[in-house]
Amino acid sequence: MLILMHRQATREDVANVVAHVRERGYQPVELPGTDRLAIGVLGSNPSRIRDAVAALPGVVEAIPVSKPFKQVAREWHPEPTVVTVGGVRFGGGPAFVVAAGPCAVESREQMVQTAEAVAAAGASVLRGGAFKPRTSPYAFRGLGDEGLRILQEARERTGLPVVTEVLTPGDVERVAEVADMLQVGTRNAQNFSLLEAVGDTGKPILLKRGLSNTVEEWLLSAEYVLSRGNANVVLCERGIRTFETATRNTLDLSAVPLVQSLSHLPVVVDPSHATGHRHLVRSMARAGLAAGADGLIIEVHPHPDEALSDGPQSLTLQMFAELMEELRRLARALDREMVGAAH
Ligand code: PEP
Ligand code: MN
Repeated sequence: MLILMHRQATREDVANVVAHVRERGYQPVELPGTDRLAIGVLGSNPSRIRDAVAALPGVVEAIPVSKPFKQVAREWHPEPTVVTVGGVRFGGGPAFVVAAGPCAVESREQMVQTAEAVAAAGASVLRGGAFKPRTSPYAFRGLGDEGLRILQEARERTGLPVVTEVLTPGDVERVAEVADMLQVGTRNAQNFSLLEAVGDTGKPILLKRGLSNTVEEWLLSAEYVLSRGNANVVLCERGIRTFETATRNTLDLSAVPLVQSLSHLPVVVDPSHATGHRHLVRSMARAGLAAGADGLIIEVHPHPDEALSDGPQSLTLQMFAELMEELRRLARALDREMVGAAH
């Protein structure tokens, strides 16, 4: 529920409403805004106290938030949220951010070579998994702590902030020590204790859409992070599971403008996991930009055929550089600005 206050409401009126809400067992949240004075009410079924609150001095009206997600909703926070990752801003304007790097950190040489190449091509965030969620327990599951050390070195060499995945609440602290942004992967998108744990770090979170999640479920996962006082969430559409097997997943591109209408959080597209095939990545990257996404996250490998994970969908360094050129031209035509563009 949102309580809209008169613009002339006094500090005392606001304090009175806040106290009233708290006494009734709900959590009040003061919502600063440029053209309104509002108090959000969190908790189960706040409509129970709607009439009582509406009668308090200084209150214009108390309106239910129509969606099950609250703090994530545009109604709650009409202005777009800007999430800053090591100085790189996602969302809230024409800026378009490209994050790139290998699926997994495999070695110092592979990571540093990729990092330098994607930085030179104009990427502004570096990706690479140290802890990898794999469908088979026998597949390469990442270098773990050694991978984190390599990521740190790659960041030092390039100056690019790093996004990397965390798999369990117990790993959050050590991953957060190195990462500029924590990724919650598709398989963990409804691991609610992990969502709370990453929320508690206050760090920027890249929240992948669960592989069979509706948009509403995805936004409720984001709500878990915001419910811990952390609004630094970037949503990532990475394809969903459908009956189609010719592609690894089905890119739900309409989710981009849909999420932007429902939520104030930035949204990026991952054309790599969405398609599973390198030859489809370029088109879907362009489509993501054209659909209005705030950025992309793309897998790149110096030798994709030798990659220990996701080689078939990884671009070569050359393909990535060519794609960036093309995105820069397209961004100009769409009145968007490539962040940290090399040219
Ligand atoms: C990844 O980014 O390498 C990854 C595992 O992504 P997803 O969780 O979207 O499959
Ligand atoms: Mn991957």
